[in-house]
Amino acid sequence: MYATLEMLIDGKFGKGSGTAAEPVLNPATEQSLADLPHASGHDLEAAVAGAEKGFATWKAMNAYDRCRIMRKGADLIRARLDAIATVLTLEQGKVLAEAKVEVATAADILDWYAEEGRRSYGRIVPGRVGGVRQMVLKEPVGIVAAFTPWNFPAVTPMRKIAGALGAGCSIILKASEETPGTAVEMARCLQEAGLPAGVLNLVFGVPSEVSTYLINHPKVRKISFTGSTAVGKQLTKMAAEGMKRTTMELGGHAPVIVFDDVDVEAVAKIAAGGKYRNAGQVCISPTRFFVHESKYAKFLSTFTEIASGLKLGDGLDPSTQMGPMANARRLEAMDGFVADAKAKGAKVATGGERPANQGFFYKPTVLADVPPDAKVMSDEPFGPIAPIVPFKSFEEVVERANGVAYGLAAYAFTNDEKRATAIADALQWGMVGVNSLAVSMPETPFGGIKDSGHGSEGGTEGLEAYLNVKFVSQA
Ligand code: NAD
Repeated sequence: MYATLEMLIDGKFGKGSGTAAEPVLNPATEQSLADLPHASGHDLEAAVAGAEKGFATWKAMNAYDRCRIMRKGADLIRARLDAIATVLTLEQGKVLAEAKVEVATAADILDWYAEEGRRSYGRIVPGRVGGVRQMVLKEPVGIVAAFTPWNFPAVTPMRKIAGALGAGCSIILKASEETPGTAVEMARCLQEAGLPAGVLNLVFGVPSEVSTYLINHPKVRKISFTGSTAVGKQLTKMAAEGMKRTTMELGGHAPVIVFDDVDVEAVAKIAAGGKYRNAGQVCISPTRFFVHESKYAKFLSTFTEIASGLKLGDGLDPSTQMGPMANARRLEAMDGFVADAKAKGAKVATGGERPANQGFFYKPTVLADVPPDAKVMSDEPFGPIAPIVPFKSFEEVVERANGVAYGLAAYAFTNDEKRATAIADALQWGMVGVNSLAVSMPETPFGGIKDSGHGSEGGTEGLEAYLNVKFVSQA
């Protein structure tokens, strides 16, 4: 059921020339699924050489032919959706239904960029002198090096692959070593769809070694990273040495503001559904719940009832509602957040511990009356913990919601139109959901500000991220 793990270098799948490898674990069972080969220095150089050739071929191909290949790749992903989603659940842990939606979304992203690549229009600027044509042209930036994490093994790599390919770039992707199979399967679909050799390369290894090699390589012109703020800052510094363009999609710590004019039970259901998706390992996951004091008790009890009723288990079991955490590091992090909050006076309304079974499971957790100095109120939990606190006034809640280093996604619920506009204006975040948690679509920009990074993936902005602007003045 699991994937055959290979790298893709210059159009060929294989184990590479290195000897290093690491096991990929199923987080629901802690059993090894397969061994993942690591790229040697020679393999990385071959990937860059392949990407250089691939870039020349892909750039020279017209946008219609590129579009046809990409759309065929998307069709193949859809045709293999069940198999790829099974690989995803085995290596990442999320429930199969979520994995299927994710793989289908990856195919949609590929389709969208296939089409949008046909519209990377420039413009003509009227000249100051007769007979002069002033043209603004868009050109692909060149070879892209991309690094993706383990929480969305299909959508995150695809945002980078599709954006780069749609713009006419070639790409070397280092997908997560913890969830490599999904990327391998998607790469197979693209190769079978007719992608020329070297346009897409897929490598694995020790993350810091691969990123240091590729980011410092003079032929690589653009870096795209999704992951933690700490690593994003390191990679941005390295890219600055070579004056390379970067897109950084880093962590978040999304506030959810629930005003007093809503149907609080309905909002609690939406909020809990969003919170425990992918066991909370989502950068736009709702993570700090601010509920108006008049509705606090009802919101807390409804949310807690939903959280405590969720069935944990293997993501492949159709009755499972929440899978395990993707790796053991998250379990330790959850224990740390809960112990710290408790020590500072928070109450555990439900969860707050690991269940006894095997696998990286953590109970859906609700923390009530969490003091502002608890770590979970300022550090991204990236797990199934929901701190819920009351607020009194609009000004107070805006200050608390904005008062962290992150700036990815924020949410607010209100039935008052004026308040909806006011809160959307007041929230200093890259994405704001008003009465909705849906802020991620192929055709809309996805990205943050402040410590959450810079640049957008998705939407026309996501294509621009892989395009240079060239001005031509022709007399
Ligand atoms: P981490 O910071 O070690 O790694 C995060 C990701 O970056 C991983 O995929 C890792 O392989 C990669 N990485 C690490 N060092 C790298 C390097 N030098 N060069 C290239 N890639 C590198 O931490 P982690 O334990 O995997 O995750 C913990 C935190 O990361 C979470 O708490 C969360 O804040 C953040 N995270 C964010 C996202 C996101 O979608 N923005 C996804 C995963 C993790």
